[in-house]
Amino acid sequence: MGLEKVSGLIVYGFPLGEADQLISCFTSGGNQVKFVAKGSRKVKSKLAAAVQLFIFGEYVYYSSRGLPFLRQADILKSFAGVRRSLPKSGAAFAAVELCRLLIAEEARETEAFNLVMAYLLFLEDRDYDSLVFDSFRLKFAASLGYGMDFSRCANCGAPLKSGWLYWPAGGAVCPRCRGPAGIEVGPRGLSLLQEMGQRDFAGLQGLDPGLARPGAAFVDSLINWLTQGKTKAQAFRSVFEGR
Ligand SMILES: [Zn+2]
Repeated sequence: MGLEKVSGLIVYGFPLGEADQLISCFTSGGNQVKFVAKGSRKVKSKLAAAVQLFIFGEYVYYSSRGLPFLRQADILKSFAGVRRSLPKSGAAFAAVELCRLLIAEEARETEAFNLVMAYLLFLEDRDYDSLVFDSFRLKFAASLGYGMDFSRCANCGAPLKSGWLYWPAGGAVCPRCRGPAGIEVGPRGLSLLQEMGQRDFAGLQGLDPGLARPGAAFVDSLINWLTQGKTKAQAFRSVFEGR
């Protein structure tokens, strides 16, 4: 109740009526809050710029009974460098889509928030890189408690040279534990997944670009499992990476 102030990233805007939007914001405290931005679809609206997707800003909203209303908004970081590039904004849309789908209202997922900010800041100054995008998605899953192990069988603990990805078990499983598991992954694939989980974003830019395609297939299957197939924004890659 009353006025609340948060800083956070805009992760979704849903049109309401003729001129308003229901906005979802992933806050620096790791929660997803929703508020109505009145008139924010009108050209002259003062709020319009501050509630665009992947704006990082400060938002003051008033909550009483029903939906809170946005009173004031200030842009802290607009990520103009990301917006000027189609592949980079595609990656940013996919990043905020994951936040919208996987962050609950009172989640307190501050590690996930810091990670998505770190990725957007990295994108702001560098070229789009497929392996970095997948590393971000793998780490984002890990920050939410879905850290996957690719060095040992996730079921019996035996060291793995090759195996099958099986997300419900927590990573990859050995031939003996295979069960219903899906995607086969060889030694190079396993070491790629470990590198994507462990190296920092800059460190991944030196890897063989030929690894981008298998890396994307592995992480797509993880994200598909985590979101129950609800993500759509990763489709930008079919345009920019020829998938
Ligand atoms: Zn096993």
